[in-house]
Amino acid sequence: MKPLDQADGPFQPLEGESFHFACHPKIACFNRCCADLNLVLTPYDILCLKNRLGMASDQFLEEYTDTMIEEGRPYPRVQLKMSDKKDRPCHFVSPAGCTVYEDRPGACRIYPLGRGSAHGGKEIFFLVKEDHCQGFSEDREWTVETWLADQGLKDHNRINDQWMEIITSSKPLGPPEHHLKKMQMFFMASYNLDRFRQFIFKSPFLERFVLEPEIIEAIKTDDRLLLELGFKWLRFSLFGEKTMRVRGKD
Ligand code: SF4
Ligand code: SF4
Repeated sequence: MKPLDQADGPFQPLEGESFHFACHPKIACFNRCCADLNLVLTPYDILCLKNRLGMASDQFLEEYTDTMIEEGRPYPRVQLKMSDKKDRPCHFVSPAGCTVYEDRPGACRIYPLGRGSAHGGKEIFFLVKEDHCQGFSEDREWTVETWLADQGLKDHNRINDQWMEIITSSKPLGPPEHHLKKMQMFFMASYNLDRFRQFIFKSPFLERFVLEPEIIEAIKTDDRLLLELGFKWLRFSLFGEKTMRVRGKD
């Protein structure tokens, strides 16, 4: 396996090559990349961060995020809010590094790699070489696999991929008059898990859908399971997929 050539431009496809990288407090650029970011959060990122901070979903969304609705994209996106201080640093950066390191977003974990899918859905990775980042001059050598394992990205990717399938689906959303309601459902199940939990237990949700008793018990406290149930409910509600069992229609 050969190290990737340093002179190939900012986005370099990785197909079996290794790369050199390290990020640590002694590097001259330390923390420089944790500012002025347009950092899109996934539902799993929000789950990890709000639990790390011991906050309710509503409170976390209000204090630390901005919601973006962009023309041509039906689904609202949530970005991590930067602070108003000089150079707009991330709220979670400190002189010693990231204060939420174990629960940092997937985008912070995967850098300096980028991940996408090629024709036929094949997973592809590339190296993102930004000029200010001096981590590429360090000796430590990685492959895609060793980097993903080191950064704890397997769980993130497994859960985020279920959500990506929803937001990249080409299935129609149905009549336009239902779109607003559907986007409200999307926002709640994706980003506001505490409200989704209340909705399940305080609306006729459990009368309408059949869930195993152990699942009903588990989602009272297990946010990850609740999020994955939310993805199934969204596929059912947005696209009419048969991902939920409806009472009386078994
Ligand atoms: S710019 Fe690169 S090396 Fe410097 S702190 Fe950020 S990721 Fe680490
Ligand atoms: S969450 Fe942590 S790693 Fe990500 S931008 Fe903020 S301080 Fe940096």
